[in-house]
Amino acid sequence: MNKKVVTRFAPSPTGYLHIGNARTALFAWLYARANGGKFKLRIEDTDRERYYPDAVKVIYRDLKWLLGGKDDVTLETDVEDGAVWDELCESQFARADRHREVAEKLIAEGKAYYCHLSKEKLDVMRDEARKNGGIIHSPYRGLTPEEARAKAEAEGDDKDPVVRLMVPNEGTMTLNDMVQGEVTVDNARVDDLVLLRANGTPIYHLSVVVDDYDAGVTHVIRGADHLNNAFKQAHIIKAMGWDVPVYAHLPLVTNMKGAKLSKRDADVALWDYKEKGVLSEAFFNYLLRLGWSHGEDEIISREKAIEWFGFDAIGKSSSKFDEANITHLNVNYLKEANDERVAELSRDILEKKLDRELTEAEFITFVKAMPELKNRVKSVVELVDLSMFMWVDSEHEETMFKGLDEKSVKNLVKPLKVGEDGEMSAKDALEKCISYLEGADWNKTDFNQLLCDFSNEQGFKLGKFLMIIRIAVCFSGVTPPFEVMELLGKDRIINRLKTCLKTCF
Ligand code: GLU
Repeated sequence: MNKKVVTRFAPSPTGYLHIGNARTALFAWLYARANGGKFKLRIEDTDRERYYPDAVKVIYRDLKWLLGGKDDVTLETDVEDGAVWDELCESQFARADRHREVAEKLIAEGKAYYCHLSKEKLDVMRDEARKNGGIIHSPYRGLTPEEARAKAEAEGDDKDPVVRLMVPNEGTMTLNDMVQGEVTVDNARVDDLVLLRANGTPIYHLSVVVDDYDAGVTHVIRGADHLNNAFKQAHIIKAMGWDVPVYAHLPLVTNMKGAKLSKRDADVALWDYKEKGVLSEAFFNYLLRLGWSHGEDEIISREKAIEWFGFDAIGKSSSKFDEANITHLNVNYLKEANDERVAELSRDILEKKLDRELTEAEFITFVKAMPELKNRVKSVVELVDLSMFMWVDSEHEETMFKGLDEKSVKNLVKPLKVGEDGEMSAKDALEKCISYLEGADWNKTDFNQLLCDFSNEQGFKLGKFLMIIRIAVCFSGVTPPFEVMELLGKDRIINRLKTCLKTCF
């Protein structure tokens, strides 16, 4: 009977969660979900110097956003609230006793030994090994702890030994990797790796192996940069008589030129994208297709991904990170997203920009405008910008008009053609329009129609005239349709047109 699939994601909390790691998490999560298995999270915090406590919170938050699709996560969100992992090991470091216990068992069984070699002697041996293309052969290999102690005393070696695994000198180790295929390494090329340092702290490879075993991990899915480690780790596993897990070492994510992805190429932290207004399902979809594909399908939901995901569709070559594709997907998902959700997602960015909270009534107006707003933008951030005209109060209108860009100013003051060869200044047109709108019955005719009627009456070219109104109401020529502008109400629109007249002409 096949064992139930158990995967894990084992990040080191050294900073933000970057694109490559996020993709590893996604694939490990998906493989578990696709096979009705379990997905476990383990924080690998053994490197105490690089440990950064907030990074753990970042990992929780980012995974809930990416995998769980939860919009409202913050660093303060409760660890378990909406968690997407089935089990959490909050600290690998805290399990050091258990890791030591395994090393001691290996010593007791004669599969590991105390090595007292001094640093100086080791350095010489290492240099020699490097020159000859060989490995280090410790003279302590095969000795019992007592024999080793006596030898160290006699030869003036270190009092406190490290513990080394006795890696077989002959034969080969073959790992069957779901992505890399069969990979074989001669055992004679693998050092007797250290399991415990002289101060008794476990080495990373031991911790990984023991934690994976204790968590019942069946599939180790991680970056290809760990492929060499797999051979060291598999020797520990075999020495313990445990089953070697199935490996999948994922090709690296690179920049467009195929080199290591760095901050110079793009934002590399997952959260940067959330802050730029990318929806989590768009980012999920993007990462999913970074190395994996399903025919020609571009838009793939979480549900479909779970149904279709498998390692047969992952190539060995590295995947190029292309931000433009994220934008493309985001446009798609924004259109589909629920209006209230998008308004809620924009709220934070908007309130920060306005430096005040939205009123209940304003929020309702925002939701009403949403179908038109969200269809015209690439991200929530852009959506907020597009909606700014809705939130500027009369006090700040003058400042907005004074800050108009050059192109808008040019379009705003351009005289209008009237009929065949007549002309009217933009100022006159605006003045006349204001009187017309003041006298009109807004309950009977909508804003757009009022403007058309006025324009026809005056003999303007409609497009040119409407451009003036767009700028005078929205501070920009790029605007949502007039139905959205109308949400401002008659009084605010007329007042704004008057302010424009006063400030710009
Ligand atoms: N902690 C390692 C990393 O962040 C992952 C180790 C593993 O997946 O085995 O790269």
